[in-house]
Amino acid sequence: MASKSRRLSGLEISLIVLFLLMTAVSVALITVLALKQESDKKEEVTPEEPSPSVTPPEKPYLIGVGRADCTGPVADLPMMGYANTDQTARGLHTRLFSRAFIVDDGNKRVVFVTSDIGMVSQRLRLEVFQALKEKYGDLYRQDNVVLSGTHTHSGVGGYFQYTLFMITSKGYIKPSIQAIVSGIVKSIDIAHRNLRPGRIFINKGQVADSNFNRSPHSYMNNPEEERNRYEFNTDKQIVVLKFTDLDGDGIGLLSWFAVHPVSMNYTNRMVSSDNLGYASYIFEQEKNIGFLPGEKGPFVAGFSSSNLGDSSPNIRGPVCVNTGLKCDYINSSCPVGGKKACIAFGPGEDMFESTRIIGENMFKIAKELYGSAKQELHGPVYGAHQWVNMTDETVQFNSTHTGRTCKPALGHSFAAGTTDGGGEFNFLQGDTEGDPFWDGIRDAVLGPPSNETKACHQPKPILFSTGEMDSPLPWHPAIVDVQIITIGSLAVVAVPGEFTTMSGRRIREAVKRELEVKEPFTNAEVVVAGLCNIYTHYITTYEEYQIQRYEGASTIFGPHTLSAYIQRYRGLAKAIAHGTIGELPKGPEPPFFDEDKLFNQVRDPVADVAPVGTTFGDVLQEVNPVYKVGEIASVTFVSGNPRHSGDIRDTTLVTVERFHNDTGSWEIIHNDASWETRFHWIKGLAGRSQAKVEWHIPQTAQAGTYQIQYFGHYKQTTENTTVITPYVGTSAAFKVARSFYYF
Ligand code: ZN
Repeated sequence: MASKSRRLSGLEISLIVLFLLMTAVSVALITVLALKQESDKKEEVTPEEPSPSVTPPEKPYLIGVGRADCTGPVADLPMMGYANTDQTARGLHTRLFSRAFIVDDGNKRVVFVTSDIGMVSQRLRLEVFQALKEKYGDLYRQDNVVLSGTHTHSGVGGYFQYTLFMITSKGYIKPSIQAIVSGIVKSIDIAHRNLRPGRIFINKGQVADSNFNRSPHSYMNNPEEERNRYEFNTDKQIVVLKFTDLDGDGIGLLSWFAVHPVSMNYTNRMVSSDNLGYASYIFEQEKNIGFLPGEKGPFVAGFSSSNLGDSSPNIRGPVCVNTGLKCDYINSSCPVGGKKACIAFGPGEDMFESTRIIGENMFKIAKELYGSAKQELHGPVYGAHQWVNMTDETVQFNSTHTGRTCKPALGHSFAAGTTDGGGEFNFLQGDTEGDPFWDGIRDAVLGPPSNETKACHQPKPILFSTGEMDSPLPWHPAIVDVQIITIGSLAVVAVPGEFTTMSGRRIREAVKRELEVKEPFTNAEVVVAGLCNIYTHYITTYEEYQIQRYEGASTIFGPHTLSAYIQRYRGLAKAIAHGTIGELPKGPEPPFFDEDKLFNQVRDPVADVAPVGTTFGDVLQEVNPVYKVGEIASVTFVSGNPRHSGDIRDTTLVTVERFHNDTGSWEIIHNDASWETRFHWIKGLAGRSQAKVEWHIPQTAQAGTYQIQYFGHYKQTTENTTVITPYVGTSAAFKVARSFYYF
């Protein structure tokens, strides 16, 4: 294969980027969305129900919780999710955090980490383990640490080592991956330091009106008797863990719910933790009274991803944006505008409101379940992990029939994207035919798939035979992590990608059956944790795969991918139940490519330039003298490129401050992690840029005098020196009035 023996030229890479990905044309279709100002009403706080006052267990768990900032660069780099290299970061709405939970049974220890990132990549996991090994030796290992991503589509990429993902991220970007690695490790450090005896309660309930199935046509291809066992075609269940100390005081919450964090759509340019992140944010804000978001407030609330593969939060469903009519059911396209016109929205009037509503829905149910949790987890903890060569698995269906997994490949419908956004050219979902035009281009640029791979992936028409492309590095992984950790009767199945609803149900059931033969698992609760450890796109059922919508086209190891995983996870569960974890083979170690073999197409930003007669931090557009609650206070400063601020973790780029007459001092009431603040970076020509800061004044704001500040850095270069200088922009003082009218 030509692509195997040579490096890709710049032109080829550009062609691929163009081919693979999506132009800005699509943006125009969504600009109909006007940004509506939020009225951020605070919920009435109901007092927390005390924990059941049974005597603490004789041998309590040791529990540690920790949260750390993992926000990377907020400018110029592509966001990871919609695979649109034009969707680069231009500011910050909410910060990204890593949240770690350690549980120790006095003998063994397990760690679950959920981070506000698109997905955990193999590169990220391996780099985290390098750092953990240095600090902790063999305490935190492959088998007892799960790393999960929430799947927000509004964090930046750049933390991958396989070619396809490097292309969509414009390469391996050191400042991006460093922020995430450091944030994850720091969250574990904090949890490690505050380990204390405590108790864990489990509860579950249903979250309504927060997800819908975006590929019902695929789902309906699952056997009828299987579908009849479920009321809905997405999972509505949320599972909540409540962590307390021995006095019953809450120290943390951890939950799993299956919904895509794509409430923020691909027109968004601000870094954001989306709906799951917002649920964590409000839970923590309610518990950590007196702390600004992200500060050292001790309570940690993790809302983690689950089997969200076909589960969308845009619950008004897909419509043709130009006609308001229903899209085609089979391939999600419109008579006018094709599939790009078929977009799912809601439930809010704009993406911010949608994020808030979905986040609040999860928060409210989680809070009720947290308050009423009575069932306590008891018993040992276990962790079981293997590396599996997923290109070479044989599935034993029965004594005579077997199936095989394939070398990775993406189908035509992968390039169609979904009704949540993305997709380019004339690719449609539900394509089992392919398109000779694109096949021709592919063959010319990348080489055709082998007959073996074509046959293996049937009925998928292959667009990219990624398993047969290894220039400059393999395009997709072959070695994949499978892992289960258990805490008492709870099993967390850590899956390497996006399982669809039915895939998640099948794997939960299979794992439960293996576990329930032994104590403490006779009444096991099994949850799927999504986007864990390594990213391998989607995993559909065999039947869903036949339909070849986006999710099936993105099931990269072929039609028997799910069956192969079920076999492997059953093996892990069996080993846990029967106490034979030590006998599990570790499997083949994944590669860790030398850094100089990874490519990076992102150049350092140019030096910053302030317009003549101004300096950095000067106000270009001043605030109004008076605002009322519900309005937006806005100020624009002369700025540098935010990437010149370097590692921005544990800082703030923005403050909103209130003046206290009695002390004559300013009090910070919001930082850049606050929902109420938005920082838009406006990139100008040749290093001339602006920072626009908005404060969406909540209804709860007190009347008084306020100011907004922006903290940046600018870069100046001479022939042989580079100087980075901090600066501060400060708005004029302004008033907030509760109301202009008195009735
Ligand atoms: Zn996804």
